[in-house]
Amino acid sequence: MKVVEVAGEWDPRPDAELSAQEREGRWTRNASLAWRSPRWSVGQREVPSIRHPHDVLVRVRAVGICGSDAHLFETDADGYVLLPYRVRLPLVPGHELAGEVAEVGAAVRSVRPGDPVAVHTLQYCGVCSACRAGLPSHCTDAEDQGFSIDGGMAEYVLSRESNVVPLAGLRERFSESDIYEIGALCEPASVAYLGMFARAGGVQPGATVAVHGCGAIGLAAIALARAAGAASVLAFATNPARAELALRLGADEAFDVRALSEAGTAAGEVTLERTGGNGVDMAIEAAGAAGAVLPQIERSLAVGGKVVLLGSQGGSVPLQTMAYMVKGASIYGSIGNIGGVEPVVALHSAGRIDLRPIITDRFPLDRAVEAVNRATEKSAAKVMIHVP
Ligand SMILES: [Zn+2]
Repeated sequence: MKVVEVAGEWDPRPDAELSAQEREGRWTRNASLAWRSPRWSVGQREVPSIRHPHDVLVRVRAVGICGSDAHLFETDADGYVLLPYRVRLPLVPGHELAGEVAEVGAAVRSVRPGDPVAVHTLQYCGVCSACRAGLPSHCTDAEDQGFSIDGGMAEYVLSRESNVVPLAGLRERFSESDIYEIGALCEPASVAYLGMFARAGGVQPGATVAVHGCGAIGLAAIALARAAGAASVLAFATNPARAELALRLGADEAFDVRALSEAGTAAGEVTLERTGGNGVDMAIEAAGAAGAVLPQIERSLAVGGKVVLLGSQGGSVPLQTMAYMVKGASIYGSIGNIGGVEPVVALHSAGRIDLRPIITDRFPLDRAVEAVNRATEKSAAKVMIHVP
């Protein structure tokens, strides 16, 4: 089968604090500490075969390129990848995917060959304290397809019954090709869902929400805030094209932060202005630029406001602790999407949200290298790979 492959050079930075296990196993919890000179190509692998009774083999139809994939393509001045997440190379990337069930293990009951499914790629262990506490997205012993083990930028991917989400409910409203694109979009959307609703407890109808960062996760957050009954959703993007998309996804107003800066103002000030000085009930950091975004959020939170951190960024940023204390505000961190895919599918089935406008570019699998290159450009929101 055709696959996308990422190879690279294992060369831990001199100051990298890696465990003996990471050094011996040539993998790291933070790829930017040890992997350099990434090389993307399209190659050939064997089609994986069913090994366990609950395995599900999926014929991939659509796979999105995430900012994290782009960060496994882009490098810093020393040639290290930008991604601050667990990675083992060589690797088949791809963790936002949907396809058609090709074959199932003997014990699988919930899906059959031919069924359209979204695949969530975190293979949580089920036994660590996070899993036992009902937080499998935070599993401490997981393998993650597309990062630590092979993912879905391929013609086939092996998953397991607990990780596939049926998409047949979308058939009433959407074409077959749209179903797979929506299934792939459910990954970034469910990251937003999990952070906003499962971790942060959501917003009340009539609330005000500000979304900072209008990549796929931020754009999905806008649609979800709207679906949850927010009275007002403000969006802050780093270019006019993304701001335009934010409006299409349901933002009441969307701003290009660079234009704001040229006009001598900033997101925090605009948020205060638009909320009559009250600030917002929920502010979402989906830019992966907390250093720039948090000061804006800190000055524009309502009393009891919630901050949801969804953008990934290595390193630390200063925090104005008094801003949170004075407002009785809370910060929620969230990662992963388990339990978030089903409600996002349900919202689509019910016609309450439609995330398709997030897709700005489409490429066939053969042109995946071009696709990931395109995904590094700020004007692209979601670059989708179709697997014919
Ligand atoms: Zn676990």
